[in-house]
Amino acid sequence: MTVYADNAATTKLSDNAFNAMEPFLKEIYGNPSSLHTVGQIAKEHLENARETIASSIGANPREIYFTSGGSEADNQAIRTAAYQGARKGKKHIISSKFEHHAVLHTLNALEKEGFTVTLLDVYSNGVVKAQDVENAITEETCLVTIMTANNEIGTIQPIAEIGKICREKGVLFHTDAVQAVGHIPVNVNDMYVDMLSVSAHKFHGPKGIGFLYVKSGIPVKNLIEGGAQERGKRAGTENLPAIAGMAAALKDAVDNLEENAKKVTAMRDRLVEGLKGIERSRINGDMEKHLPGTLNMCFEGIEGESLLLLLDMKGICASSGSACTSGSLDPSHVLLAIGVPVEIAHGSLRLSISEYNTMEEMEHIIKTVPQVVSYLRSISPVWEKITREEK
Ligand SMILES: *Cc1c(COP(=O)(O)O)cnc(C)c1O
Repeated sequence: MTVYADNAATTKLSDNAFNAMEPFLKEIYGNPSSLHTVGQIAKEHLENARETIASSIGANPREIYFTSGGSEADNQAIRTAAYQGARKGKKHIISSKFEHHAVLHTLNALEKEGFTVTLLDVYSNGVVKAQDVENAITEETCLVTIMTANNEIGTIQPIAEIGKICREKGVLFHTDAVQAVGHIPVNVNDMYVDMLSVSAHKFHGPKGIGFLYVKSGIPVKNLIEGGAQERGKRAGTENLPAIAGMAAALKDAVDNLEENAKKVTAMRDRLVEGLKGIERSRINGDMEKHLPGTLNMCFEGIEGESLLLLLDMKGICASSGSACTSGSLDPSHVLLAIGVPVEIAHGSLRLSISEYNTMEEMEHIIKTVPQVVSYLRSISPVWEKITREEK
């Protein structure tokens, strides 16, 4: 049995998304910029997809800019606000300590260009306080960027509250909604956001495609110079197969949102029930304001990497946190941001499930994780020390 429990890293392509893509990989191959019939047919499909996507988040089609994914959308949103601010002498940006690296590393790059960045604390519940955002805003602030839901611990942020504050103060507000769209209700008007990033492969769409929503009236900064695609804001012939796949996947995700959330939450609750009894373990992040499918735990006295390898041998694909941190031995910046001590943060496990998982798979996880944890502890000098100190 292979149990795929790493849906926060990426998801399986749905059959509907695949079927929506296929014609564009074969017969509908036109370039939407071409003036002839073959091109214009492609153009029509492109604009239909844009409409489907826009309506799924309460936006206007003219407010949707296709990108190569969530990372590009984050980069473009942040640079749009930064350069617009800089022209007015406003070079201060507010974000949080537990953002995705696509946000944090863009902010690092802007610091080198002379911007000042305030990274807000995230409390032990994994939630940013809107009041902290308000307190941090100054005359110089040009952008607030706070993610809708965290990719490692699944906590949902008070986006509408933060958005209202930003709008009152005349500060642009961007949210990385990559983990949220298709999983919880997202509406750009209700959330008072100016910009919002989305990626298709987190909701059973294809990889390498996403989009940035930008509220009309905000001049978008283009990162890729060239042709006039995306109204001159993102050059390059449109990836129509991927765009069609994203539209189909997003429509399915939004149409079935409640039903899927119910199913996934029931499985996640079963995991919590079955795993929370493991001694010296903890669940990271508030479980109330939370995505349906993400569960992050720490087990004292072991290394997350060893845990992942042994789970993989037992057919369970999971993660220690973000796909970017796996592969390095630093503990997760997200867990450190919510105050998990370094030595405990090393023993982290993220299980992220989707509607493609089954209860039977949850039972396999519940049976296997405690076995692997206790095996690793039996050979761990750190665990020996912890238990010796206890006596
Ligand atoms: C996956 C992810 C991204 C990056 O999206 P890509 O399409 O892989 O570039 C950005 N932010 C969050 C919160 C994510 O989970």
